[in-house]
Amino acid sequence: MKPNELILLIEDDDAIGKLLSISLHEYGYKTRLAKDITSAKREFITQNPALLILDLGLPDGDGKTLIQTIRKESKIPIIVLSARNDEKEIIASLDCGADDYVTKPFSTKELLARIRSTLRRTQQKTVHDTLTCKDITIDFIKKEVLLDNVLLRLTPTEYNLLAFLMQNANKVLPHQHILKTVWGLGYQHQMQYLRTYINALRKKIEKNSTRPEYITTESSIGYRFSCLSHKEEEQ
Ligand code: CA
Repeated sequence: MKPNELILLIEDDDAIGKLLSISLHEYGYKTRLAKDITSAKREFITQNPALLILDLGLPDGDGKTLIQTIRKESKIPIIVLSARNDEKEIIASLDCGADDYVTKPFSTKELLARIRSTLRRTQQKTVHDTLTCKDITIDFIKKEVLLDNVLLRLTPTEYNLLAFLMQNANKVLPHQHILKTVWGLGYQHQMQYLRTYINALRKKIEKNSTRPEYITTESSIGYRFSCLSHKEEEQ
């Protein structure tokens, strides 16, 4: 875990909150403590934690409602830590998006092992550092694109557009969907923006920009980024 990443503890029991903070600090984790759902939401937005440890019985509601709220926008790992040990409760928590469930009373060593394994699993699942389509490789960490192993000079918008196309390779992407995702809400009808940037990208990545192989036009619908080799296309 990087030193600037931290664990958000959501726990209303002072003794357990304190015990958790001390144990996690001993193992090199930073922590923030929230005692109810309202302050947990605030901490989640402002502190950018790497993982949540969540109690279910909280003064302003059931912890599961917080899981549901967070899952609408984030894949952050969530471990439920609760005294409720019936199967129904465990299944309901996992079904609404928790990654793991530890029952109280708990062993600190076991909880730490669960934290490590959850972080390992979720980081492997969510982080795609690079993506390659034929001769193009995009590096999402460095925000760089290589064409035939040569670094391409792209503007930030060109990069964002190419990243979005490559992440959705081989799918037909409607104009409005691309505009909304890359430029944002309110830009859905700015067709000229999209055309301009598609043309600019084609000049940089296509061998012949008038007969594109990567970014193909789907007449009156949108564009498609083709990641298939010629052999696959013929099938
Ligand atoms: Ca509680």
